[in-house]
Amino acid sequence: MSPRRSWRRWALGALLVLVAAGVAGFFFFRARYLAAMGDSGGPLRPRQAAYDVRRYELAIALDPERKRLSGRGTAIVVATSPLDAFEIQLDDPLRVARATVDGAPAAFEHDDGLVTVALARAWAAGERHAVTLDYAGRPKIARRPPWSDGLVWAETPSGAPWLGVTTQGDGADLWWPAKDHPSDEPDEGLALALTLPSGLVGLSNGRKTGETVNADGTTTTTWEVGYPINNYGVTFNAAPYVAIESIYRGLDGTREVPIVFWAIPEHADAARKLWREQGAKILEVLGRRFGEYPFLADKYHVAEAPYLGMEHQTLVAYGSKFENNEFGFDWLLLHETAHEWWGNKITARDWADFWLHEGFGSYSEAVYVNDTLGVDKYLEFMARTRKRVRNARPVVQGRDLTSGEAYTGDIYAKGSCVLHTLRWMLGDDTFFAALHRFATDERFAYKLVETADFERVVAELAGRETPWFWQRYLYRAELPRWTLARAPAAGGRETITLVWDDPAFELALPVAVGGEERRIEMPGGRASFEVDAGAEVAVDPRGWVLAEPAEED
Ligand SMILES: [Zn+2]
Repeated sequence: MSPRRSWRRWALGALLVLVAAGVAGFFFFRARYLAAMGDSGGPLRPRQAAYDVRRYELAIALDPERKRLSGRGTAIVVATSPLDAFEIQLDDPLRVARATVDGAPAAFEHDDGLVTVALARAWAAGERHAVTLDYAGRPKIARRPPWSDGLVWAETPSGAPWLGVTTQGDGADLWWPAKDHPSDEPDEGLALALTLPSGLVGLSNGRKTGETVNADGTTTTTWEVGYPINNYGVTFNAAPYVAIESIYRGLDGTREVPIVFWAIPEHADAARKLWREQGAKILEVLGRRFGEYPFLADKYHVAEAPYLGMEHQTLVAYGSKFENNEFGFDWLLLHETAHEWWGNKITARDWADFWLHEGFGSYSEAVYVNDTLGVDKYLEFMARTRKRVRNARPVVQGRDLTSGEAYTGDIYAKGSCVLHTLRWMLGDDTFFAALHRFATDERFAYKLVETADFERVVAELAGRETPWFWQRYLYRAELPRWTLARAPAAGGRETITLVWDDPAFELALPVAVGGEERRIEMPGGRASFEVDAGAEVAVDPRGWVLAEPAEED
């Protein structure tokens, strides 16, 4: 999703943190338990580790007047170990009326967001089964989407229903029965039948496969997702949308792929301008670096949403202002589209590695600046990103985290700056090859990944391991610090000594002497070199390295 940027949100967040900190001491264990139940991810429940989701088939009907949802959700799964009962998450406001296993009615319990379905006999490893829940209710309403999740029942300026949903924090189980964990995507895709009052345009992920007008004043559209999809990427949008079409010609220029922005009527003109200027261009620029747009066989569409944005696979939610930033692009459209590679094509199996979505997504904005405006503007863009780095907690805070636990501002800003510094360390050829390989190599593409996978790709291409780089930048909060000392040397010269605060940290530093920049290698975390006495020496004048000078005392 997009980073929080307004100070009011920040102030509210800070207030909530203070309140939460007070309560946390007393309720720590209970809070931890509830977080694990309510948020997406965290430790995987043993009964959920014992099956692999192959496919989801959903039928969802929405009633905007009553803010009600009724649904049928089927999970088609393969047992990976013996299983005595089946567990799947569904939020409590939704009540299950009926459960079936392979079509036969089954007993079930539904407590604290977890549905446990009894099995007529235990499943053996390797068996394939379908579990279906019929359910209905008033799903959680999003208070502050996309940062707090739920259904969004909004209205367009002219008063028409304008609906959507966000689930990145809470998980998809707030509107359909899901294994609420990032480590399992439906390998055979997902089908969704979406029923809405006729007159609204209903949209969802993947390819549209049909449309039926029902006798009761509703219309059902059906959708087929042809790729694995993460739970929070599953979405719908509904409004009296206007379709704005453009053509994407593909990286080789030979294709003719219609790409569509679905705008509310009031914003059609602004959307048309944005889409004509940037829709296909973003795919071209990012595709040249990260490989072809990943979901060409489905689509690339954007739906205007009544909230800021979210990277829903093949149907990106856009709720920004149709304004370019001073680097000449619509950052929200670019950021969410970049997640088609970072988040959707490759997906973190543990929210602990959330930065693989957000750091890479944010850095994609910088890549766009680099490739459209040149490296000076890129450095200016990164200098601004650098100002948002907080270093309060490590970028990667452990393992088995929920999305709420893993979410910090630094997974965006610091994640992006770490990639920027990696570019400095590796040089352009190796660095961009690493990004490309991570997004396209069959070990990772359309699969689940971890930070260690990216470290491995970098080591393969660089021809050496640099554990100190990852350790310092991702697994520790504090930035590396350098010290510079000057001492007189013979012949009217001076010796400059540069020392990192850790001898294992061997990152080279750019140093300008008399305005001329050179690369100073730092084996053993230190370097010495001579300059003319009194020469002006500036460490990293262009801001390549995420580090700071040690404080003098
Ligand atoms: Zn994002």
